[in-house]
Amino acid sequence: MYELLNYILGDLMTRLINPFDMAVTQLTSVAKLIDLDPNILEILKKPKREIIAHLPVKMDDGSIKVFTGYRVQHNDARGPYKGGIRYHPNVTLDEVRALAMWMTWKTAVMNLPYGGAKGGITCNPLEMSKGELERLTRRYTYAIREFIHPYIDIPAPDVYTNEQIMAWIMDTYSALAGRNEPGVVTAKPIELQGSEGRTEATGFGVMVTAREAIKKLGLNNSEITVAVQGYGNVSYWAAYYAHKWGYKLVAASDSKGGIYNPDGINPVDLLKHKRETGSVINYPKARNISNEELLELSVTVLVPGAIEEVITEKNADNIKAKIISEGANGPTTPKADKILFEKGILVIPDILANAGGVTTSYLEWVQNLMRYYWSKEEVLSKLEKRMVDAFECVYRISREKNIDMRSAAYIIAVSRVAKAIELRGIWP
Ligand code: NAD
Repeated sequence: MYELLNYILGDLMTRLINPFDMAVTQLTSVAKLIDLDPNILEILKKPKREIIAHLPVKMDDGSIKVFTGYRVQHNDARGPYKGGIRYHPNVTLDEVRALAMWMTWKTAVMNLPYGGAKGGITCNPLEMSKGELERLTRRYTYAIREFIHPYIDIPAPDVYTNEQIMAWIMDTYSALAGRNEPGVVTAKPIELQGSEGRTEATGFGVMVTAREAIKKLGLNNSEITVAVQGYGNVSYWAAYYAHKWGYKLVAASDSKGGIYNPDGINPVDLLKHKRETGSVINYPKARNISNEELLELSVTVLVPGAIEEVITEKNADNIKAKIISEGANGPTTPKADKILFEKGILVIPDILANAGGVTTSYLEWVQNLMRYYWSKEEVLSKLEKRMVDAFECVYRISREKNIDMRSAAYIIAVSRVAKAIELRGIWP
């Protein structure tokens, strides 16, 4: 009974916690750590601009449905706004605000010449036809056309949006502008001036940061074991590069469960099995385990690369990995963070570990502006350098101040944005 009550209360609390309030609280605590000028804190607490548009869309049955779309531009002191667009039934203005602020920190920690923004439409794309999605996307682009531009705000995909949706945004924007403007969105299809290397970018970055952590801890390369939670885009490519670099992939999972083989798993063969059967489970060359067991395996590197809040105060004490590279957004709760830090586990925070995607978006945008394109090898080598540099910077601050890597990343990000605001001043 008590547990049930606790569960219901917990669920209620989650619904009641306003994501934007959480983002502001987080900013305020970083501000205290760096003694941030209170005037700059006031500026950063609020997004610079919020666009709300009600979007009438003709549905396939002839009816008109009015959707609500948002674009929140948090800060552009360091460069044009950058951030994805999410299509989901739970999208709210406060969620988009929180995500926009979070993008400001992410681009800053990666030292990309961007600010932060986020967009969203409250809709259920799983219940909409391709034609309805196209009309909704074009209507949304029309509504925000004056506020996006290759030098103003550059959207990208997020939950339930993809390269097709980016292609429609690019086409609508270009048609309205009367010229071809590929640099107005990123993560476009290759055929429409997208970038080589975008598909593998996030998982590659996750493993590059893990590799740098392995070096810092002085671990023997031939004894590295890796477990990945999830086997979608991020986790598959993290597993692929782990294997390529001679680490042993020992476990993987998806929503149906996980698999484990201490002798090693070939990631490409496992992907083939998942494609054929719909899941990684029942892979003949491994034994089935649960997702909970996977997280608690004794491995060198754990990649939570599926969903949020999987490492909590309930299981943090049982985590045996030496390094956690956060492929997913928000897989570790603040309470778990504290436990992991006390246990000496090196957690590479999401805003650094999974920033390979936005960094490759930056490289795509640069190529669009130059109208000159790099090979996959060139893109991945530029991405690798940026991931290594950002890791070094965050690691150094975490050691100097004896704090966890997440706090170090936020300190770097907020300080960089604050400095840019201070240098630019307020005008008019
Ligand atoms: P995806 O849809 O390709 O893969 C998600 C995987 O997670 C699937 O294998 C799915 O089966 C698995 N999964 C779902 N529920 C699960 C559960 N309860 N337990 C275990 N596994 C479960 O998604 P993705 O693009 O790989 O993104 C994964 C995470 O990484 C998300 O949090 C996303 O926001 C974050 N992220 C992705 C990118 C990117 O470029 N794709 C960039 C930054 C962050």
